[in-house]
Parts: sequence; C-alpha cells; structure tokens
Amino acid sequence: MTLRTRFAPSPTGQVHIGNLRAAIFNWLYTRHEGGQFLLRVEDTDRERSTPEAVQAVFAAMDWLGLTTDGEPLYQSTRREAHLAAAERLLQSGRAYKLDKGGTGRGEAILFKMPGTDMAFHDLVKGDLTKAAADLPDFVIVRSDGTPVFHLANVADDIHMGITHVIRGDDHVENTFRHIALFQALEAPVPQYAHLPMIVNAQGKPYSKRDGAAYVGDFREKGYEADALFNYLALLGWNPGDDREVMSREELIAAFTLDRVQAKPAQFDFKKFEWMNAEYLKRMPAADYRSRFRRELEKHGLWSPEYTEDYLDRVCALLRERVKSWSEVPMQAGYFFTEHYPFDADAVRKRLHKEGAGGHLAALAAAFGALDAFDAASTEAALRATAETRGVGASELIHPLRVAVTGLPGGPSLFHLLEVLGRDRVLARLARPVPN
Ligand code: GLU
Repeated sequence: MTLRTRFAPSPTGQVHIGNLRAAIFNWLYTRHEGGQFLLRVEDTDRERSTPEAVQAVFAAMDWLGLTTDGEPLYQSTRREAHLAAAERLLQSGRAYKLDKGGTGRGEAILFKMPGTDMAFHDLVKGDLTKAAADLPDFVIVRSDGTPVFHLANVADDIHMGITHVIRGDDHVENTFRHIALFQALEAPVPQYAHLPMIVNAQGKPYSKRDGAAYVGDFREKGYEADALFNYLALLGWNPGDDREVMSREELIAAFTLDRVQAKPAQFDFKKFEWMNAEYLKRMPAADYRSRFRRELEKHGLWSPEYTEDYLDRVCALLRERVKSWSEVPMQAGYFFTEHYPFDADAVRKRLHKEGAGGHLAALAAAFGALDAFDAASTEAALRATAETRGVGASELIHPLRVAVTGLPGGPSLFHLLEVLGRDRVLARLARPVPN
C-alpha cells in the first residue's frame, strides 16, 4: 500500500507557522519514506474560507517549496459524499436521527459510539486511552443538513487513501471519535502522529504578539524561506545529533517520526534570526548580490551608475552583519544615497559633542592630503591627526562614522571609507552637522 499523507488546513486568513510546521513534517516524512503528500483544503466554513485565505495557503506552500503529489482536494466539493457516508451509518445502525431541540425544525444525525473504552498508539505520544464514559455519541450532520468536521475529515481521509495522519495535538481528543468513524465505515484506520504545540518563552501558544507568527510575515520581513523551513523542522524534532543548519536533502534523509518530541516546542525568535543569518552567509556570492540589489531597487536606492564591482564590495562589507533582507536599506542605504537618515541619539552623542566639529575638519584636511585613499592610509591619517590634537583615536572615529553613515555602528570604518571613496567622504564631512 502506498504511504499517503496530507496537509488539511482550514483556510481562515493567514497561515500560522504552527500549521505550516505540520505541513513540513508531513512533507519530510513522506519524502523520507517515499510516498505521496497531498493537500486537502478544509473549506467548509464558507464565511471564513475566502478565496484570499485559500490563496494564502498556496502561497505559503509555494514559498517553502512544499510540493504536493496531485491536485488539491476541496472539502466543500464533497458534501454529497459526506452525507452519503452519514446515510450508510444510518443504514448500518451506527447512526441515528434526533430532533435535538425538540422543535420539529429538523433532525440532526448522531454517530453512535461503540460504548467501550478506546485506545490507540500515537506515533509521537505513545499509547493513549479514553474511558467509554468520556466518549459520548456526537453529531455528524447538523439539523440544517450540513456535515460536521469529524465526518468530513474522516470521509475525506478514506477517500484519499490516507495512511498517516500527522497533525497538531489540538486534535488528539478528536482522534478517538475519528477512529470509531473509520471502523464504522469499515475503512482501515490510519496511523496517527500528533505534533507538539509551538509555544513562546512563557510556555503559552505562540502568537502574533511574540513576533512574526504567520508565514506571510516572515516573507515580508525579508527572511529566507529555507531558513524558516529549517528552523520549523527543528521545532519539536531533531536529527539525533547536534546538526542545526541542514539542507532539504539532509532533513529528508534524517527525518523519522520517532524523534518527534511530545512536549511543547518553544519558538525562539533570536535563534531563528541566527538561523536566517547562517543561510545568508552561506549563499553563493552571485545570488547574494542579486538579492541584495533587488532589495535596494525595491527601496529606490539602486541606480545604474553603480557598478557590479561596487555592489560586490558593499556586500562583502555587510555580509556578516545583515540578518534579514529587510535590514538592507537601513544598513546599506548610505552607500547608495547622499540622503541617508541620521540616528538622532548618535548625532547628539557624537556630532554635537564639544570638539567634534574641529576634529572632523582636521580629518577632512588630512584625508584631502593623502596620496592614496584606502583603509590603511585613512587609518594612519586618523591616528596621526588624533595624536596631533592630543586626543584618543576614538574621539575621531565615532563622529567620523556618524557623519559619513548616519549610524552609530556598522562594518569596519576604514574599509567603508575606502568603498565610499574620497570625494564622497569629503563632501559628507563638509556638510553642516544635522540638528
Ligand atoms: N482542518 C483541520 C485543522 O486545520 C484539519 C486537521 C487534520 O489535519 O486532520 O486543524
């Protein structure tokens, strides 16, 4: 029998990383075992399942490269099949009609639970049991004729031939009912793996308040899809050794369900940013450059007058510092415009400081007199000027950096001066000090 898994989101807006993590685990497991990974859009809630919400699911899966093995199945198209399943259960005596409110306005269909204690083996949580008393009969078709989630979910898993259900552990309690439905419909019961919840540092469900919580947020903030994929793969799973940065191939090769942990998994935004920075560092230089340029273009900072060589030198300086693409305009802006913003604190602390103006004027003169304008010569000139003026080098270094970049920190000062070139540096030093 072919191993078959599915991702079955209910599109209700944006895609939460917890849902997407379920898709990633399904995908990795299926690619490791060799099987088919399918998508089922559980869009029966017509009010919340808007076309935009469905698109958000596709966009998130596309962005992360979660390829499926077949067309998506829309649950809303299967209503007749769900009702037919309820009819079969009525026929076999496993379901009955009940006028719940006694209003005569319509009868709901209830599923008759077996009336015994139930148990199943969860591939993550181990053996789980529930007493018969806690497993009452339940509605499968509402009195208005609409099928309930449990019935639709199980009927569709049967229809799709799903062998492994890997989903969030908010569904653990439902699983007893689902198994009873599979059995009553005389279908093989799939294996279940319930994934631990994603929590914040306080152990509470991870939400928007904890940082980016939706896949779209990560994309907009300029994080790498591969970094998010890698980070989410390690949220509740580990490869059994201390590897962290892992390629898709490595993740597929290492992924088994027995190393999925049962306890909640904590999303640590700092750790994620570290992971993203690792991906940026490892990117081939040419890819990095073109991605960097795209970010500059997006913010109107690129102009054809800049050469590839210039861009290359800027990238080399910033590569270790840029943690996500959204930081590019802030960290690299001053290389591409004379209208770079000034950090107010840095201006107050460094440029409005007693003596700063005189130091910068002396530096400008020293720089102007240099034969070559490179990192070594500007550094030597700065140190000599500091000595002549009887102050420590840092008294010149800090205001110089703020004057030419607007920022309190950044890459090696003398190297960035070299990249900017003498003309621009001197023009910047000649400008009036901002307020
Ligand atoms: N639509 C349900 C959810 O998103 C599906 C759960 C399942 O995977 O069975 O929670």
